[in-house]
Amino acid sequence: MNKEDLRKQLASLSFSEKVKILEKLRDRSLAIAAAGLRRKYRDPQHAQEFCDCLGWEPCACGNQPPYHCTVCCRELAPEQIRAARARGFYRQEGVEE
Ligand SMILES: [Zn+2]
Ligand SMILES: [Zn+2]
Repeated sequence: MNKEDLRKQLASLSFSEKVKILEKLRDRSLAIAAAGLRRKYRDPQHAQEFCDCLGWEPCACGNQPPYHCTVCCRELAPEQIRAARARGFYRQEGVEE
């Protein structure tokens, strides 16, 4: 169905039918988002993803890559490394950002 047909079809629908379609689309995107979250937290293949601890702390053991979280030992995301540098960690590299 091209855009023109879709527009015509929508125009021929009553208001309540349009609302129904929009609600269906919204439910579907919510379901997709929920499935994505489930994958992120339950899929063991994702266990080595970047740290997402709420109270993450940069680990100072060795002070060299891969930089990781002292709480969960997963790698820090780039923005966490930036935040850690701002707090005085990992300064020895002299990386300018
Ligand atoms: Zn460590
Ligand atoms: Zn962590």
